[in-house]
Amino acid sequence: MRIGICPGSFDPVTNGHLDIFERASKLVDKLIVAVLDNPNKNSLFTQEERVELIEEAVAHLPNVEVDCASGLLIDYVKSKNSYMIIRGLRALSDFEYEFQRALFSKYLDDEIETVFIMTNNKYSYVSSTGIRELAKFHGNLDGLVTETVKKALEAKFSKI
Ligand code: ADP
Repeated sequence: MRIGICPGSFDPVTNGHLDIFERASKLVDKLIVAVLDNPNKNSLFTQEERVELIEEAVAHLPNVEVDCASGLLIDYVKSKNSYMIIRGLRALSDFEYEFQRALFSKYLDDEIETVFIMTNNKYSYVSSTGIRELAKFHGNLDGLVTETVKKALEAKFSKI
């Protein structure tokens, strides 16, 4: 069975991420979306909240699972009997970071392959950072995130 891992912070998941999940799910038998617990990042949503938001958004994709991940990514990938990391690629600025990460994973374990899926033109400018900023200032999130993510963002920023 071919298992692909889509790792990320997904704080929160955007329609750009969902587009990547949908397309990646067609390339593998099983896709695991791994929500990283990154202690260096001050996240808006907890890891559990991020997992729940993704689970709801991928409910229509039968071969997609959502999981929490921590520690070294390649250890996680191997623990799932996978060798394939799938990442989305937007602009040149993503390339440099992704290039370095992919080579680093390869250095740590030569069996691991990182596969890139080019962004959908519609979402090339969508990032979780941009979405959080837009939500903070009560901008229009329609078409950028799911309705549930939109409500979750509204709830976070109405308390402040
Ligand atoms: P990280 O914090 O690890 O960079 P993110 O949650 O920001 O993780 O993103 C996870 C993955 O999704 C990355 O590979 C990123 O490049 C990709 N991604 C994010 N937004 C988009 C988008 N709009 N189109 C395509 N890929 C995207």
